[in-house]
Amino acid sequence: MEITIWRPNDMHAHVREGRMLEIVLPFTARHFAHVVIMPNTTQPVLTGADAQKYRTVIASKTDQFPSFAPLMTIKITPKTTVKIIKDAKRSNVMIGKLYPDGVTTNSAGGVRDFTVMDPVFQTMQDAGMVLCLHGEKPGAFSMDREDAFLVELGRIAKQFPKLRIVFEHVSSSRAVTAIQSLPENVAATITVHHLVLSLDDVIGGNLNPHAFCKPIPKRPVDRKALRDAAFSGSSKFFLGTDSAPHPPQHKVWPEIRPGVFTAPVAIGLLVDLFGEDRLDQLRAFTVHNSAKFYELPVLLNSTNPLKLIRTPWVVPKDYSDIVPIMPGGTINWQVVEA
Ligand SMILES: [Zn+2]
Repeated sequence: MEITIWRPNDMHAHVREGRMLEIVLPFTARHFAHVVIMPNTTQPVLTGADAQKYRTVIASKTDQFPSFAPLMTIKITPKTTVKIIKDAKRSNVMIGKLYPDGVTTNSAGGVRDFTVMDPVFQTMQDAGMVLCLHGEKPGAFSMDREDAFLVELGRIAKQFPKLRIVFEHVSSSRAVTAIQSLPENVAATITVHHLVLSLDDVIGGNLNPHAFCKPIPKRPVDRKALRDAAFSGSSKFFLGTDSAPHPPQHKVWPEIRPGVFTAPVAIGLLVDLFGEDRLDQLRAFTVHNSAKFYELPVLLNSTNPLKLIRTPWVVPKDYSDIVPIMPGGTINWQVVEA
């Protein structure tokens, strides 16, 4: 059995730096069209100039993937100024990513008082830029951190009604409901791993560091809300894999870092999950919804489709020592590499 799907967008990906970038970037570039490149590298991407430099590195490694179109971001920190935003816009950077202080990998020194950032938000709104938020409240209980952030999200959305805001990697049923009820300027990404995992996959048996991520996968009822949102076709939800590889030494105590590496298996897993009966909803979730929100052309998606065959395959234990989601697990669909 064989199907063809429009090439998906990935609105949240970590492609890292150095040797790690060389290993992981091809997995993303091979399968995806528009990809939002996260700025929380070891040397963070803080300005338009940083983003241009990073873009050049990425371009130099992806010649052989003509349908891959990276969208660069800058990291918004308490030190980000109005001038930095204006300069970034001039460098063709349309996205700013904001991490609250200390909530995930390389987020130390992030924002605590969000009202301090209002001039930056105002400038982003005026410039037509997109604000991507890691929506977790620092210091709150880990299972409740996302829900605790929703008040702040509501405030920013209300105060800046024309600022497009992406609530990243939504993981709770309450947050899904909040996104649905907020105005059109707020949307959310959903990862593949939050559609697949629950907290049991992380700590229910032996502790699984390769399923450990932020926000932490929650209850089955939360996972169901995420699946319903993804399957609904609602334009407020779209794919952002948050594929976040770590080298082996950062997946053992005392430095077990959050992040699940999904890039090589994301498409097969998604097609498994949506099934052949929901290919229209899959296209909405992976192409149309993000294209509409980010105002991206869909020509890249439609003219460079992916072919998949239904042939069960076993997920490798690792890719150059980097362990993916569900190593040794079976996925039914696989992309036919051109
Ligand atoms: Zn991320």
